[in-house]
Amino acid sequence: MPHAGTPTAEIRRSTAVVVPGAGAPTELREVHVLPPGPGEVRVRIEAAGLCHTDLTARRDLSTFPLLLGHEGAGVVDAVGPGVSQVAVGERVMIGWKVPCMRCRRCMDGRPEHCEALQSTAEPRLLSLDGQPLTPMLRAGTFCRYAVVPAGGAVPLPDGVPFEVAALIGCAVATGVGAVLRAARVPAGASVAVFGCGGIGLSAVMGAVLARASLVVAVDLDPRKLALARELGATHTVDAGAADPVAEITRLTDTLGIDHAFEAVGLERTMTQALAVLGLAGEATMLGAAPRDLRLPLDARRLLGRQQVLRGCIYGALHPGVDLPRLAHWQRRGELPVERLISRRVTLEELPALVDGGVGDALRVVAVLA
Ligand SMILES: [Zn+2]
Ligand SMILES: [Zn+2]
Repeated sequence: MPHAGTPTAEIRRSTAVVVPGAGAPTELREVHVLPPGPGEVRVRIEAAGLCHTDLTARRDLSTFPLLLGHEGAGVVDAVGPGVSQVAVGERVMIGWKVPCMRCRRCMDGRPEHCEALQSTAEPRLLSLDGQPLTPMLRAGTFCRYAVVPAGGAVPLPDGVPFEVAALIGCAVATGVGAVLRAARVPAGASVAVFGCGGIGLSAVMGAVLARASLVVAVDLDPRKLALARELGATHTVDAGAADPVAEITRLTDTLGIDHAFEAVGLERTMTQALAVLGLAGEATMLGAAPRDLRLPLDARRLLGRQQVLRGCIYGALHPGVDLPRLAHWQRRGELPVERLISRRVTLEELPALVDGGVGDALRVVAVLA
């Protein structure tokens, strides 16, 4: 049924990657994607990244049936009433954390701390039996079409491939944003990054962009450490072979590190990120920790050494402002996001990867046919 005034806005049909319930295996389902509502945009997804958060969504999110996927890029297929930021046919990347620009913090100039994640007013996705689906993080990119708030469809500069743009919208935003936006690492600072997955390696690239003098990457996988070095890490520590705290203490001549970034979400690595800090050092936590994780904290050391412990979601950035900036850096060769992609798959291959894990793959991208 065509939507009045917008000839392209009929219902679209697609295969989608759905978690039916908390304990159920992921499956492929045929879905109907409705036209975008007021302030919304429907995007024809061309590439979608498989993020660690997709693998833990069943554990961390509670609304089912759940359509997975929150990293994506594609072409605007239809715009809802009142949308003027983007037009049909425009290439865009998905930003999943869109500030409302109306709450106290947004009006106070801190959209990165927006109190209200923008959401679709009513379900725009229906399974063929008429059941509404909840798109993960208001994105739901493991589907040919995604309906997102207009501010979450950010124009993509020419020359940046969709598969690269998909990663910029989450992993790269989170890692680079943490360094440049949240921690504001100054030139010459020393940096340690715990965990060299897509987010950790993005933090390494961010530290290089910030002109940090020392960039230490820590992981258990020698291949990820080798890539960290290629991306600009000055030193690497194989945590399976050496104690990262002792190694980093030695590398900093016992001064400790200025900025530590934790991109794993485990007690062990979080504790290490705090333990390597020097005077006035700052630890920024990026890893998605399980709900019940409680950290032992040396409160007296934190006070006496005037250290900072920070949690950071989505790189403390504003998608409309920062995602195009990241894309320009990629195009200029200063942010080699494409190096993070280790495997390309089809949409149909995703359920097995979500349930069975990605093995030693760094970053898997689904290219939609
Ligand atoms: Zn993600
Ligand atoms: Zn807000």
